[in-house]
Amino acid sequence: MSALPVAKAWYRSASPSPGLTLITEPHVHPIFSANMYLVEGEDLEMIIDTGMGVAPLRPFVDALRPDPSKPMICLTTHTHVDHFGAVQEFDTRLVHPLEAGELATPPAYSLDASTLPQSLVEAFEAAGYAPLWPMLIDALPHEGYDPRSYRFPGAPATGTVTEGDVIDLGGWKAEVIHLPGHSPGQIGLWQEETGTLFSADAIYDGPLLWDGPDYDVPAYAETLRKIRELPVQIVHGGHDTAFGHARMQEICDEYLSLWEGKGLI
Ligand SMILES: [Zn+2]
Ligand SMILES: [Zn+2]
Repeated sequence: MSALPVAKAWYRSASPSPGLTLITEPHVHPIFSANMYLVEGEDLEMIIDTGMGVAPLRPFVDALRPDPSKPMICLTTHTHVDHFGAVQEFDTRLVHPLEAGELATPPAYSLDASTLPQSLVEAFEAAGYAPLWPMLIDALPHEGYDPRSYRFPGAPATGTVTEGDVIDLGGWKAEVIHLPGHSPGQIGLWQEETGTLFSADAIYDGPLLWDGPDYDVPAYAETLRKIRELPVQIVHGGHDTAFGHARMQEICDEYLSLWEGKGLI
C-alpha cells in the first residue's frame, strides 16, 4: 500500500450544464466512485451525495462556488459507503427517514478490499464489474496518507425528506422521489420543467446492483417502472455518465426482462 502514488488532485469536476457541477473521485475503484452534484440556486446551494470521504470535500466544493458564504444543504440519496463519506462536513443534512440511522451511525468501513463482506464481492462480480483492487483506491490523497487511518464518521440528519417533498433552492426546484430496491430509503430528485432526473443508484449507465441479500428486487422493479414512465430528457445517475430518454428506457427494459426471466418479479 505504500507503493500507491500521490494523486495530483483527489476530486475532479465538470459542468454538464449552467448551475450544475459534477464532482467525481477518479482514484476510487469504479464500483465505489460515485457521482456528486453541486446545484446552484439563488438562495441556497445543494450538494447531492459526498463520495467516500477519503479526502476533505468541503474545501473543493467551496472553491467551485461563486459565493462560498451562501448557505448549503447536503442531500444524501442513500447510505451506501460511496455516497455519504463527507456528510459531516455540511451543516444541513437531509436523508430519507429509512436511512437516517445509518447516516448518523455508519457501519465500520475500511479501504482494504479484503475486509468487504463476501456476499457484496459476489454481487459486484455477478453484476459484471471488474475485480476489486487490493485497496479501494489507486492513489493517496496526499503525501503520508495512511489508508488504514480511513474512518467513516457519518453525522445525524438535521431533517428528513420523503416522496413528494420539494427542494427549493430559489430559481431551482425539484421534487423528491422515493426509489427503493437498491436500498430501502433511496431517494432521487425529479425536475419536471427540464425533464431532469437525479436517479442515484436506482438507474445509471453501468451494471446495476440487485443480486444479493441487501437488495429488494420486487421493490426495485416498481422503481424502474416508475422511472420508465417519467418524461425524462436527461438522467444524472449515482455513477457513470448522464444519458437520455431512450437509453433510460433501454436500461429499465433490460433489467425488468432479466428479472422476469428469472422469476423474481
Ligand atoms: Zn453507489
Ligand atoms: Zn448504492
